Amino acid sequence: MNALPETETTRPSAEEEQALLEAIERWVEREVKPIAREHDQEDRYPSELVEQMKELGLFGATISPRYGGLGLSAWTYAQIVMKVASVWMAPVGIFNSHLIMAAAIERFGTEDQKQRYLPRMASGELRGGIALTEPDAGSDLQAIRTVARREGDTYVVNGAKTWITNSYYGHMTLLLVKTNPEAEPRHKGMSLIIAEKGPGFVVAKKLKKLGYRAIDSCELVFQDYRVPAANLLGGVEGQGFYQIAAGLELGRINVAARGAGIAEGALRLALDYALQRRAFGKPIAEHQAIQLKLADMVTQVEAAKRLIESAARKYDAGQRCDLEASMAKYFATEAGVFCANEAMRIFGGYSYSVEYEIERYYRDAMLMCIGEGTNEIQRLIIAKQLIKRHRGEA
Ligand SMILES: Cc1cc2nc3c(=O)[nH]c(=O)nc-3n(C[C@H](O)[C@H](O)[C@H](O)COP(=O)(O)OP(=O)(O)OC[C@H]3O[C@@H](n4cnc5c(N)ncnc54)[C@H](O)[C@@H]3O)c2cc1C
Repeated sequence: MNALPETETTRPSAEEEQALLEAIERWVEREVKPIAREHDQEDRYPSELVEQMKELGLFGATISPRYGGLGLSAWTYAQIVMKVASVWMAPVGIFNSHLIMAAAIERFGTEDQKQRYLPRMASGELRGGIALTEPDAGSDLQAIRTVARREGDTYVVNGAKTWITNSYYGHMTLLLVKTNPEAEPRHKGMSLIIAEKGPGFVVAKKLKKLGYRAIDSCELVFQDYRVPAANLLGGVEGQGFYQIAAGLELGRINVAARGAGIAEGALRLALDYALQRRAFGKPIAEHQAIQLKLADMVTQVEAAKRLIESAARKYDAGQRCDLEASMAKYFATEAGVFCANEAMRIFGGYSYSVEYEIERYYRDAMLMCIGEGTNEIQRLIIAKQLIKRHRGEA
């Protein structure tokens, strides 16, 4: 497949992006909302949604048109994520981790890697994710122990990963390894490998979870897994840590959007319930204590959206946005937890009933504070960048 030169006209216009957002909204209402509760409770993968996501082009949402994607801006994409997450956060993981992998290939891959993988990723024929975390290394990624040893034209990989999204139903993953375990500083010995499933790539266990159910999160074991050296991202060893750190800016904007979506969805459910539930002769929405909650919730939702927009617009303009993406991720995901908690209180005893949707938001929200770098780590990044910028060093 030949890469076409990209022109202005191949990127979607503002009108086309708006039309897509409206199509997503209709799809979310008609297809996602009605199946969310059952799939979540039965921990059942929503295969039917995967086919619809292919038709909507979601697997190529941020892949550039020259490789068959839609080439959406980060801000438009973030709005799509918010819309889906406001109804059910979990299915977002099916295309989100996939698109982080695709973004890394498009940004850092060789032309051969881009042509081999991106068109098939954009169509959804090949679906992927990112495999960074290990049983003994999450926040401290430089402590990973999965090793890829070069043998002629192949790498032989041994090690284990955990919590890897899309690794059961997906076809491949972007695998963080040590190509030089003795390197100092440690990050200089790290590389990313485009790892397709094959002999030695073992999906050891599908994990049972509090929330984010229905989507596969698995333990992976690599046992003398052989992968062509041509699958080393960018073709140069030692770049993996830098490549993944650069990709996390977009990843954090996306997780922020999932947090904001949960916050907005919880607010919507709480508002509907508060208007219809009566206590002491009037709808509970007319009691001031409930109104204070609604006021806090809507303010958090709006503030989260503005932080996400600010980070995404910087990203779209090609500007550095590590500080902005971390602030958006931190604030919007805490807003998700806050709004889900407050909505639980507004629902009173019914919040505990699986007949209502709100308990799912409560179970799903906390994950957003953990994934893509915990919020403790985000605050450290925010403070470091703030100080650097203040000193004129960044
Ligand atoms: C459902 C689910 C899906 C996931 N999907 C993926 C995936 O697709 N791919 C993937 O690679 N990973 C995935 N993860 C893993 C996730 O990214 C990690 O759990 C996360 O990065 C935190 O790592 P950890 O769990 O090892 O916690 P740890 O790193 O052990 O942290 C434990 C606690 O210590 C704190 N802490 C650690 N270091 C510091 C420090 N320097 N300063 C202050 N506090 C610190 C943390 O903030 C946290 O509160 C997923 C996790 C879950 C639960």
